[in-house]
Amino acid sequence: MINLYALSYAELAELLTEYGEPGFRAQQIWDWMYSRRVGSFGAMRNLPRSLVEQLSANATLGALDLAARQISRDGTEKRLYRLHDGQLIESVLMPYADDRQTACISSQAGCAMGCVFCATGQMGFGRQLSAAEIFEQAMAFARDLAARGERLSNIVFMGMGEPFHNYDASLQAVRLLMQRLNIGARHITISTVGLAPQIRRFADEGLQVKLAVSLHKADDAERSALLPVNRRWNIDELLDACRYYVSRANRRITFEWAAIAGENDTEDEARRLGRLLHGVRCHVNIIPLNPTADYEGKPADSANLHGFIAILRQHGVPATVRVRRGIDIDAGCGQLKTAVLANQQVG
Ligand code: SAH
Ligand code: SF4
Repeated sequence: MINLYALSYAELAELLTEYGEPGFRAQQIWDWMYSRRVGSFGAMRNLPRSLVEQLSANATLGALDLAARQISRDGTEKRLYRLHDGQLIESVLMPYADDRQTACISSQAGCAMGCVFCATGQMGFGRQLSAAEIFEQAMAFARDLAARGERLSNIVFMGMGEPFHNYDASLQAVRLLMQRLNIGARHITISTVGLAPQIRRFADEGLQVKLAVSLHKADDAERSALLPVNRRWNIDELLDACRYYVSRANRRITFEWAAIAGENDTEDEARRLGRLLHGVRCHVNIIPLNPTADYEGKPADSANLHGFIAILRQHGVPATVRVRRGIDIDAGCGQLKTAVLANQQVG
């Protein structure tokens, strides 16, 4: 079966020519797929019945196989997909009160970076995703939203995997999101654990896509213990690359801070972080840790973070505490897969 989402416009046109269709057919189908975002060939009402039958027999809209789905009390929807080779990946949709609909998508099956508190890091690396596999996670949400008159507005590359360890496919997926789903670069965020050379390369792309860097610790030895990648590119090298991004892209950078009780939520740590980021055009997003099986750290108490934020502010560093989404469905990266596999072992 041919997955139409994996075809370029030229490839779709070529396929339809092979089917003996007139030239305008490709544009019609393209519109049904990406503007109206219908979920079946039968819904493409201006196509001849014979073509609908031919497409249904030979092609699909998408190749991701839904293996599990959970919906949180806060409206967050989490999906687990099985890929053609059995690999499992997750994506999450987060509706916000201001009408934003944000999809959190995976760039790899598993992850090779080994961050100790991350459920995906704990499971190791599976394989790279193709640009089509990354794009389709967003497409699937866009389609379901369209069916109820809503629009997918934002994308974050914060699911499984390290997007800069799958650089070309991730950037290709960004371009597909912009071209096909009409999502502006400013509404797309790539999150990286801190691959300094790729941060520089990304800065040179000339895209207005937002960059988030997972910092979590302000001291090299301690950061290396949590995020092994820090042994390859330490905090100095990372921040040099971040400053390059800020000047080259002329954009503020976001630092992610998974707040862990007693580990990185203390006033001492706030002072270290404040000194480190002083003068960098940035924003710090603080998000209490999602507890995971193989890491004993506990989430920081949001109520205790006011002092932390006040100290950062004294250093001229703006910070916000983010609400954790979908905590009742373990919506933290990698956790649904872990839960499903655990059930399979029990059953
Ligand atoms: N690999 C990229 C993007 C995916 S992870 C990166 O690491 O940035 C997206 C974010 O979730 C990162 O900031 C990561 O540090 C954070 N994260 C991973 N596991 C977490 C957990 N258990 N609790 C809170 N944040 C977590
Ligand atoms: Fe990979 Fe990001 Fe998880 Fe680290 S936090 S293991 S880089 S997905």
